[in-house]
Amino acid sequence: SNKRRPIIIANWKLNGTTAFVSDLLDGITEQWFGVHQAEVVVCPAFIHLAQAVNEHLAHSNVALGAQDCSQFEEGAYTGDVSAEMLHDIGCQYVIVGHSERRRFYSESDAQVAKKFDLVHQSMMTPILCVGETQEQREAGKTLDVIKRQVGAALDYCGVEKLARSVVAYEPLWAVGTGVTATPDQAQEVHAFIRELLGPVGQAVRIVYGGSVKANNAETLFAEPDIDGALVGGAALKADDFIEICKAAE
Ligand code: PEP
Repeated sequence: SNKRRPIIIANWKLNGTTAFVSDLLDGITEQWFGVHQAEVVVCPAFIHLAQAVNEHLAHSNVALGAQDCSQFEEGAYTGDVSAEMLHDIGCQYVIVGHSERRRFYSESDAQVAKKFDLVHQSMMTPILCVGETQEQREAGKTLDVIKRQVGAALDYCGVEKLARSVVAYEPLWAVGTGVTATPDQAQEVHAFIRELLGPVGQAVRIVYGGSVKANNAETLFAEPDIDGALVGGAALKADDFIEICKAAE
């Protein structure tokens, strides 16, 4: 009922072998005829990106994304992968600020903002992840946390770049836990994020992430400000993932 095109993003995290990646992409592209309207993005590990492009995605409508990028452009940063390298290999999207990066690698809002900016500089679309912890929600601080996290990117990059981005609301208590936010809980935060973005907010896709499954996707997508999903666990099986994509239409 809105003019924003739904978008479903698969976050494969630290999973898979070359054989697994082949099978999963085969499964997705085989069932692709059932998906008409939604934009679909898969985010394999860095090392599988080239394989995904070469074997599967070069001739399909599935877009490629990375799970992270360096906060630096280039140079002496051992182990990093730059936004420009990701663009060069065929990525169109990059997830930045995923809660697992913030948590296990202590990524700050300032670092996430730098990554967000570099993804734009390399002509790709960042998927900015934000979300509160259980404790923050219980303390009534959810909207403060979201405002700080979105605000960091807004202050550093400006509203024009936010307008050409995807925002993912991922409450930490729902990521990988099997506990999904209720449609009402998610809708409240999505509407708040859209409000933070001002007039450009109407065009920005805001997706929900946190234990989205084939059997709960449809009620989430029925909310006016939920434009799709960022899917972890349920994206590792082609059938489940395709069901979620279809639920967005
Ligand atoms: C995620 O990785 O962003 C995520 C939402 O994971 P899951 O769907 O497994 O909760």
